[in-house]
Amino acid sequence: MPLELCRTASEFRAACDRVRASGRRLGLVPTMGALHAGHVALVTEARRRADDAAVTIFVNPTQFGPTEDFAKYPRTLESDLAKCEAAGAALVFAPEAGEMYPAGERTRVRVEGLTAHFCGRSRPGHFEGVTTIVAKLFAVAGACTAVFGRKDYQQLKVIQRMTRDLLLPVEVVGFPTVREPDGLALSSRNAYLSADDRARALVLSRSLGAAVRRFDAGERAAGALRLPVQEALCAVGLAPDYVTLGDSETLEPIGDDAEVGDRALLALAVRVGGARLIDNVVLGEDAAPGASP
Ligand code: AMP
Repeated sequence: MPLELCRTASEFRAACDRVRASGRRLGLVPTMGALHAGHVALVTEARRRADDAAVTIFVNPTQFGPTEDFAKYPRTLESDLAKCEAAGAALVFAPEAGEMYPAGERTRVRVEGLTAHFCGRSRPGHFEGVTTIVAKLFAVAGACTAVFGRKDYQQLKVIQRMTRDLLLPVEVVGFPTVREPDGLALSSRNAYLSADDRARALVLSRSLGAAVRRFDAGERAAGALRLPVQEALCAVGLAPDYVTLGDSETLEPIGDDAEVGDRALLALAVRVGGARLIDNVVLGEDAAPGASP
């Protein structure tokens, strides 16, 4: 089947309806484009869990802050379409901004609590933009299985909460972070890194990997798990937005003086040169990412 490109919400809705009407289950992969092997892995997972995969490609203006990289975010639709086709996607939805935010629009979707910490603290309004656009995409696509990366772990948890709270007919599943062989998490924003920045960025996955090894060796003191990650970033001259340990379901931060239980999210965000990078591990669940230091 050739890839079908939809430009309007009504075209995409009709195409999704056709998939279900033929008795096939729809898999949905929302993205902002500039597709890489991490996105392609989500498409493969969507096809594994469903019958036909639809990829959405939309650089969503409402999830960028006024000083962030909306204008310079890479837009590579032609090569994205080729990657979707090669990955076996059936549909791509690539709308213009006016299609998703019709003239006079006044509606936002906000999830409380889960958005208070981690990236919610350093990017005010970001998750409101994310939940608003994903609610719209789910409203257009209809019943489906949607696949999101655990690289954006907080985003995954926020979208799962929103989907339950709004009674949307969507099963939201997470997929493990896809990494370069040396451990760097794939990201469209890696394109902003100079060769020096790319080398420095390895400290993200390496320091998280060291935390996984400490946890797996029995360390449960929150500070002993978290602080060395912060120190490793600072040691190479980086100033993290945050390095936070929290409950892997409620995303409530865990103080350095506390003990962690069987599972905990350890997540960080840091500007490296021109790119704001994020990475995380769930201690007690994820293997240590990347090559050993
Ligand atoms: P983005 O285009 O960056 O908004 O990401 C679209 C989807 O791809 C989100 O569900 C991300 O979590 C996911 N994603 C991005 N990078 C990776 C990666 N390295 N591994 C797995 N999923 C990813």
